[in-house]
Amino acid sequence: MNSISIVGAGIGGLTLGNILNQHNLDFTIYESAPEIKPVGAGIMMAVNAMQIFDQLGLKEKIENAGNKIHGISITDEKLKPISKTNILELEQNYNSGNIAIHRAELQKILAVNISLENIKLNHFLSSIQKKENYILNFENKIEIESKIVFGADGIHSKIRNQIFETGKIRNARQMCWRGLVDFELPEKYHHEAFEVWGKGKRFGFVKLSDKKVYWYALINESKYKSYSRLVDYFYDFDPLVLNILESTLEENIILNDIIDLSPIPKWYSENLCLIGDAAHATTPNMGQGACQAIEDAYIIGKLLEKNKDFNSIFEKFQKIRRKKVNYVVNTSWKIGQISQWENGNSLRNFFMRLIPESFNLQLAEKIIKLER
Ligand SMILES: Cc1cc2nc3c(=O)[nH]c(=O)nc-3n(C[C@H](O)[C@H](O)[C@H](O)COP(=O)(O)OP(=O)(O)OC[C@H]3O[C@@H](n4cnc5c(N)ncnc54)[C@H](O)[C@@H]3O)c2cc1C
Repeated sequence: MNSISIVGAGIGGLTLGNILNQHNLDFTIYESAPEIKPVGAGIMMAVNAMQIFDQLGLKEKIENAGNKIHGISITDEKLKPISKTNILELEQNYNSGNIAIHRAELQKILAVNISLENIKLNHFLSSIQKKENYILNFENKIEIESKIVFGADGIHSKIRNQIFETGKIRNARQMCWRGLVDFELPEKYHHEAFEVWGKGKRFGFVKLSDKKVYWYALINESKYKSYSRLVDYFYDFDPLVLNILESTLEENIILNDIIDLSPIPKWYSENLCLIGDAAHATTPNMGQGACQAIEDAYIIGKLLEKNKDFNSIFEKFQKIRRKKVNYVVNTSWKIGQISQWENGNSLRNFFMRLIPESFNLQLAEKIIKLER
């Protein structure tokens, strides 16, 4: 019998594994995929996540595998600034940077650090039942009994669906392409993330490493035409955007809907707890989904320092995490709507230009400050 099982070796499950390791607790992670090879191209690890990786001794490794990003700019179609947030000072205050990294690199670093022996691949959880302990049944016919279970199995979590029988997925009606490309960005774009807002569409790009650039492109679903080329939607954007899109090989592009999870009342049950997207998936507009999963693992670790009773930890965990997570989910949803306006964009941009940078920095600090 396992004492602790984690279902899902995404960023949430792997970070939790690292935290449990620090506490010398025995655990096994079950992952459906045959290898730790995530889709999704690049990802931004904000200062909140990087402070946690620092405490896990992984900050330098992650910094070396990615690219430091000191500012976030929103621009119009022609790359004319709408807002800019320079976070260099915040990074210095929190002694951690904002890192853009390839997802596969990040997950490899997290997995190797907890030893691959603790991760069972090719284990797709098909059912979970509560008896005296939890009985986990996997598609490969393996059955496991476990005292404590963590559901880190993502937005479509089987554990949430079967144990809590809840979880309404909300669709933002935006389509999102993500790509990775070998591209020489002009030097002024090397340490900043850019989001270019048009009418009912936007394009983000950031440098990941020496040559690699990660980008994402969103359009309102109502604008989608199955016969259009992606680049054609962005015909009125700066030539740099069109160049990036045209330089990307088809096989390096993925397409997803933008979805999140309508808040669920409870993330835990007896001896079982959901973390990350399984508990509180957000739309990606603040680049915080994975960072919040990492914060979940961190808080569980903090609570373990005081007490080893998991049921009391789960209750406190939700109390501590709920407010910040709700803020991220709700704010991210609103940003996603505003950024994809089809009308009144000049007025929107005009008012956004009036917002002082100090206000954006306050918002950034609210996110990157860790709860205790
Ligand atoms: C377009 C886009 C851009 C984003 N950009 C950012 C960003 O810049 N920064 C950021 O912080 N976040 C970002 N996010 C959000 C981030 O990707 C997620 O919040 C994060 O991956 C959640 O991690 P998780 O471990 O909770 O879940 P997941 O990453 O979904 O991992 C779940 C794992 O569980 C496994 N699994 C699922 N079901 C089962 C099962 N039944 N049995 C066994 N294993 C199972 C899956 O294979 C997977 O490995 C972005 C999301 C999108 C869509």
